[in-house]
Amino acid sequence: MTLPASLSLAGRIAIVTGASRGIGQAIAREFAKRGAAVVINYHNSAEAAEKLAEEITASGEQAKTFQADVSDYEAAQGLIKFAIDTYGGLDILVNNAGITRDTLIMMMSEADWDAVLNTNAKSTFNCSKAAVRHMLRKRYGRIINITSVSGQMGNPGQTNYSASKAAQIGFTKALAREVASRNVTVNAIAAGYIDTDIWAKVPPEAQEAALKLIPLGRKGNPLDIAYAAAFLASDQAAYITGQVLGVDGGMAMF
Ligand code: NAP
Repeated sequence: MTLPASLSLAGRIAIVTGASRGIGQAIAREFAKRGAAVVINYHNSAEAAEKLAEEITASGEQAKTFQADVSDYEAAQGLIKFAIDTYGGLDILVNNAGITRDTLIMMMSEADWDAVLNTNAKSTFNCSKAAVRHMLRKRYGRIINITSVSGQMGNPGQTNYSASKAAQIGFTKALAREVASRNVTVNAIAAGYIDTDIWAKVPPEAQEAALKLIPLGRKGNPLDIAYAAAFLASDQAAYITGQVLGVDGGMAMF
């Protein structure tokens, strides 16, 4: 028996939402290294997105940028259409775009709630709905939702964020059951504390307290998430669906 090339994404077409910075950027770079053609979605950081695309194409791989606010239904449909029109299909969707607006519920405005739920959870519906139509026809697809330990454990000051991340987990399991018969897998990665701009916004005393909760004793790196995403996107993960993979230094164990 010939074993497939380990974790190769050669010939695959991928969209990573929110790939201009942080975890999304690391995932897009890792997917491209493994041979996928990547659509780098961004919202505001055009320069960073273009720089990443240039870096990837300079290394001989394929990447294009596409501006879209994925919390907007029509814009998300446009993103999926762009990938299909540009590369002729879509194999992998990573719903990574996300924001925080942390504050205690007594101070949380309706706008804080709506922005976080729409950007983190509704975007996952928006992009997945458009992608699934194509993947079902193709009888192949990988959807990976980047959720958080906050959606599993809860976090004070993050009722909006925790709710949005828990919503992604429920969505992952329900959609996995809907599309499994067509060889489309849907999984989530529950990230712990990862060194990005989101983490940098956490006050130093809260960072110190958080680190004490991590058995491995350190925050994670965006690449830790990118490796897990590359595995779930690969052919080697064909028999895994509806799962939530914790990449959190052991912080949440169930
Ligand atoms: P980050 O460094 O702040 O990057 C966020 C990314 O999301 C940026 O590329 C941003 O694009 C994009 N984005 C935000 N709103 C968007 C929108 N409406 N439409 C399209 N793109 C949008 O954050 P990160 O830490 O990498 O987080 C990435 C994901 O991992 C999020 O879903 C987050 O909840 C999750 N996560 C992070 C951690 C952590 O500790 N860092 C832990 C658990 C889960 P622009 O810059 O172009 O606006």
